[in-house]
Amino acid sequence: MLIRKTFSVPPLGCNCSIIGDPVTKQAIVVDPGGAPEQLLHEVQQLGLTVSHILHTHAHFDHFLASGEMKKATGAAICLHQNDLELWKDLELQCRLFGVSYVPQPMPEYWLKDGEKVPVGRVSLVALHTPGHTPGSMSFHIPQEKLVLAGDTLFRGSIGRTDLWGGDFDSIEESIRERLYTLEDTTTVVTGHGPETEIGWEKESNQFVRLS
Ligand SMILES: [Zn+2]
Ligand SMILES: [Zn+2]
Repeated sequence: MLIRKTFSVPPLGCNCSIIGDPVTKQAIVVDPGGAPEQLLHEVQQLGLTVSHILHTHAHFDHFLASGEMKKATGAAICLHQNDLELWKDLELQCRLFGVSYVPQPMPEYWLKDGEKVPVGRVSLVALHTPGHTPGSMSFHIPQEKLVLAGDTLFRGSIGRTDLWGGDFDSIEESIRERLYTLEDTTTVVTGHGPETEIGWEKESNQFVRLS
């Protein structure tokens, strides 16, 4: 079993996760949207070494603490290349939402669909799940029956598609073909709000159901 800590961080309550191997102490961080001191404190408490800072997408509330995390841990900032324009537009995104702008370094590693990223003795699989944004990704850890879906899937709902490059047909296809094909008992860490399970969403999601 991996160590996993998920926190809701300011300014918009994005769910940030720290996932680490309890034996090798290698770890990744997904979506550090804020509260860098709290995240770094937790990483230190757990005695983990962070190798990658992964992003489900480049909305400002998912990466405002990425630079601080990188500075403190030396980990690589990873993103799907289709979200590069959004990443570069951080200042504009912050202005539109009335949030203070904190400049962030550029991503240095482009995640590809199907790519494996090591987390100690296991790896996660990066799945390109566009629709909420063009470069949205989900991170699947089969051994843990866990998927981090960012803003693609919420409990009973889905991410909005009316912002910067969002597309409803794409998000629907991503959910049906990449997420609903995972095992029913897979836990979903959503981008905001409570966790859910793939099987439950297939039956009960308001927007994308199987049947
Ligand atoms: Zn988003
Ligand atoms: Zn979000």
